[in-house]
This record gives sequence, structure tokens and C-alpha cells, in this order.
Amino acid sequence: MLDLVEGKVHDETRQGEAFAPFVGDINHYTKKFYIESYGCQMNFSDSEIVASILQKEGFGATRNYEEADLILLNTCSIREKAELTVRKRLTEFRKIKEANPGMVVAVLGCMAERLKSKFLEEEKLVDIVVGPDAYRTLPVLIEEAEAGQKAVNVLLSREETYADISPVRLDSNGVTAFISIMRGCNNMCSFCVVPFTRGRERSRDPHSIINEAKQLFERGFKEVTLLGQNVDSYYWVDDSLTETGGQQGAVTFGKLLEMVALISPTLRVRFSTSHPKDITDEVLFTMSKYENICNYIHLPLQSGSTRVLQLMNRTYTREWYSVKVNRIREIIPDCGISSDIIAGFCTETEEDHTDTLNMMRSSAYDMSYMFFYSERPGTLAARRYKDDVAEDVKKKRLKEIVDLQGRLSYESNKKDMGKTFKVLIEGNSKKSEADWMGRSSQNKVIVFPKENYNFEKGDYAFVKVNDFTQATLIGEVVK
Ligand code: SAM
Ligand code: SF4
Repeated sequence: MLDLVEGKVHDETRQGEAFAPFVGDINHYTKKFYIESYGCQMNFSDSEIVASILQKEGFGATRNYEEADLILLNTCSIREKAELTVRKRLTEFRKIKEANPGMVVAVLGCMAERLKSKFLEEEKLVDIVVGPDAYRTLPVLIEEAEAGQKAVNVLLSREETYADISPVRLDSNGVTAFISIMRGCNNMCSFCVVPFTRGRERSRDPHSIINEAKQLFERGFKEVTLLGQNVDSYYWVDDSLTETGGQQGAVTFGKLLEMVALISPTLRVRFSTSHPKDITDEVLFTMSKYENICNYIHLPLQSGSTRVLQLMNRTYTREWYSVKVNRIREIIPDCGISSDIIAGFCTETEEDHTDTLNMMRSSAYDMSYMFFYSERPGTLAARRYKDDVAEDVKKKRLKEIVDLQGRLSYESNKKDMGKTFKVLIEGNSKKSEADWMGRSSQNKVIVFPKENYNFEKGDYAFVKVNDFTQATLIGEVVK
């Protein structure tokens, strides 16, 4: 399978992950819900908001869908494959519903928004369809569905940020958590369905973000990732700080980063995603000023060809992107940089593809999320351009991109040999309970033996790298 996606932002291993029952929850629930999440981290974060809304309504979580009164699928529309996976899953739930007709099935998220009531007509088993801005109405929709009516709310909002809802954390490691700081997107990249499924961009009140981060820190979390489709365009004007309505009270993304970093020097701060056109020197200097803001930027390139970038409506050229990468390395010399790449966008030639490979080399990415172009109905590209690169050519190009990234990741890890990193321990290594797994500031996974050190999950350790693979650094604790 070449539609490669791994890592923290869109983790393939987590696709379809079921919500864990609330850890240590002593409440007694008469009704149970089961939720599966697909797509990007924003969706996983939204599922935590949905869980919080349902918990208030007396629903307890279960990991066993057969005992659920309510099944929810939080869906993704970004590529066709994501939608096909959900459709397949829905047909599986049809069988369970046949045996248990009282069970309510709800489709949430981007696919709900894109297909709206078509879901009720085509997929006869669905009872509720809810778009990403309508989760507050879930209790009413559930009531309607329980009374035998089909219920839909796919209204998008210009204001909704769920700022006041304290998310119930998914089956987290208790060390790292995601905080949604904005919703929607105004960018209109021609290939992308997000502006249509998630609506206009809006920033969340910084006070509620800081409160959420503080609460997480008080509960023992040591790292927060600030999430948005385009975090660098975060902007909030705090009327309580500016009586004149001027700029004094404006909170930019750089300012917000600083506010979160100041909560505690032992709380790490990350963010995702940065659009290359919006990341500012203010953000870069703030990152270099605070040790606890991680030196890692996800800076999606999409294509290395200026001609294709123009068709994609990305608003930068290959030269402009290179200047941005150089600026990052100038201000934060040891910054990790990762990217998103799309192979085989409309009209892409071999020459355009070579431009992409060359840009990957010159940017020397530590890691990339790599996809082949998947036409999405309703997007600008679907309306304006022909999806004219043959499937086998797309796959061949994607393979070359994936192979090159493999070599770049290997080279990047090789350069870390002998270096010592401050590692936040996230838990046991997947392969052995005798080893810890954590991450460096640059977001690289480091595995090291526990030996006789008394470290615990959530501690920081200084680890010297003595070996590596393409995906992992291996080291030992430095006393
Ligand atoms: N907002 C982020 C940005 O602009 O970088 C990314 C959001 S999107 C959820 C994640 C990635 O999916 C994009 O960066 C792009 O590489 C990929 N993607 C989006 N639409 C796609 C499509 N139609 N076909 C293939 N990949 C797509
Ligand atoms: Fe999609 Fe572009 Fe917005 Fe990212 S910035 S969500 S790729 S429209």
C-alpha cells in the first residue's frame, strides 16, 4: 500500500481507533457509546469533544460495539480511500444493527458534511448525520433518532470553536495531548476538500487554550501540540485588553506560543500545521527563545514545481519555499522539518516530478507524509482541471518520493550519531518492556534501555545516540 501516512499528525496505525472507556471513571452509565475515528488529528481531537458532550448526557464509553446503544464514526474525506474505508465499515455495522434494531448509528465529521442527507438516503443504516460544527446538537439529534426519526445537522458555523468544552482525553499515554486552537480553513488549495467540510477559519479564545494547557499540565501531561489546519494564521483580538479596538490586545500565533510556553519550562509545546506562506519570523524567534518550544516544524511543500504549485493555489514558488527553509535553519539551526507531498497532481510532468524530488533533497526533510493525488468532488481542482496523470504513473512517482524520503530520513538520523538529546519519555518501546520510547525536541523517536535508572513515563532523560534505523534513533542514558 503506497498511500503512506505515519507519525503523529495522520497516524495510519490509529485509523479507525476505538475510544477507550474513561480511565478510572467511577460513574454508572445506563447507556453506552462506541466511537471510531478516522483522518487527521483534528478529527481525533473532535472525538474527545464529542465524548465530553455524550458523557454529560449520561453515556459511558465502550470499546465493544456489540454492547453499544450508540455507534459513532468520525469520518475523513481528504482522499477517496479514506471514504471507502468508512463505507466498508458502515456495511459491517449494518449487520450488527439488524440484530439490535434499537441501536443508533451516527456519522460525524468531514464525510457527513460532504455527503449530508445523501448518507441517510444511500446508506440506509445511518440514523444521524452531524457535521464538525454541530456536535453540540448531538443530544437533540440522538433523542430524535431514538424516537425513530432520521436526524441531520450539517450547518457550518463562523463562530463555533467548542472553547468551553473540556475534552475527555482519548486513551492517551498521559504524557502528550493535543489542543485544538482554531477550526476551518480559508486557504482554498485547489486539491483540498477541507474548506468545504470544515468551513471558514476561526480562532479560539486564547484564555480557554491556556486554561486547557494548564489543566493538562496539572494532571501530569508534559507536552501539548497546538492544532489547526493553518496555525500560523491564528489571530485573536482581546477586547478586554484593548479599549480602543487597536492592536494592543491582538494575540498572534507567536504570542500564543509564548503564552503556552510560559506555563512551565517543563511543559513541551509543539504545533501543527504551518502553511509556508504564513509562518513568520516572530514565530521562529519565539521558538528559539524558549527551550520548551520544540524545534520541529511541519511545513508541507505539496509539490516542488512552481507551475504545479500555482495550479494547486499554494501561493508560493519553489524559490520562495527554499528561502523559508533557509530562514528556519538560520534562526533555529537544529530544527527538524517535515513535509506533505502529493504525487501526480493534474498535468504533472516528469520534469515537475523531478523538481519535487530535488526540492525534497535540498530541504533535507527528516520525515514526510506522502500521498498520490486523489480527486475530491467539489474542489477547485475537480472543477477546473482534468485528473490526467495515469494511476500507474502516480504510483511510480509516489514510490520514488517514498524511497527518496527513506534515504533522507536515514541520512538525517545518521547525522545524529554521537549526539545527546533531551528525551521526553512517552512509555515502553513497542518491541520491549526493557526499553523506553520517547521523542527529541525535533520529534524523532528515540529508544533506549531502562537499565537501573529510575525513570518514569513523563520524565526527561538525556540520551546519547549510538545506533539508528531509518525510523528510529537508538541510544543510552547519559548520566
Ligand atoms: N492544512 C494542512 C496544510 O495545508 O499543510 C494540511 C491538511 S490536509 C488534512 C493533509 C494533507 O493531505 C495535505 O497537506 C495534502 O498533502 C494531503 N491532501 C489533501 N488533499 C489531498 C488530495 N485531494 N489528494 C491527495 N492528498 C491530499
Ligand atoms: Fe487544505 Fe490547503 Fe487548508 Fe491545508 S491549507 S487544509 S491543504 S486548503
